[in-house]
Amino acid sequence: MTVIAQYEEHIWDSGIVTNEPTYETEGEKLYCCIVCDATMTETIPKLIPDQVPITFIKISIGGSDVPSTLSLARNSTLQFDVLLNEGVSGGDLVWSVSDRSFATTDTTGRVTTLNKSGMVVVTVTDPATGISQSTILRIT
Ligand SMILES: [Zn+2]
Repeated sequence: MTVIAQYEEHIWDSGIVTNEPTYETEGEKLYCCIVCDATMTETIPKLIPDQVPITFIKISIGGSDVPSTLSLARNSTLQFDVLLNEGVSGGDLVWSVSDRSFATTDTTGRVTTLNKSGMVVVTVTDPATGISQSTILRIT
């Protein structure tokens, strides 16, 4: 006959995940004692996105290559985006134009031309690595 002492430590099973963690919320795991009916819960940390560094940036428009000569009328807008190496979830890219008297850009790569014809260089940079790419915009 086996007597289990009242204050003997619980012996936990391997546990089951009762609540899967996400990138936003913690999860929970439930352990049951294999000797008595006690249970215990454990918090599972939030998921951490893979930290894949940017090694490649290519300016695109709607996921397509940018033509070698890109023309845009004065007083109009164009939304640029980027193609990055696989596994990168985005990051905080910085968009800039070479001459803000010709055009401006916002944080998403949306370029707005002003009422002035000329050429500007549009550049996107990953501040974490310094990797950048530029394209020339002819404002007509
Ligand atoms: Zn127990």
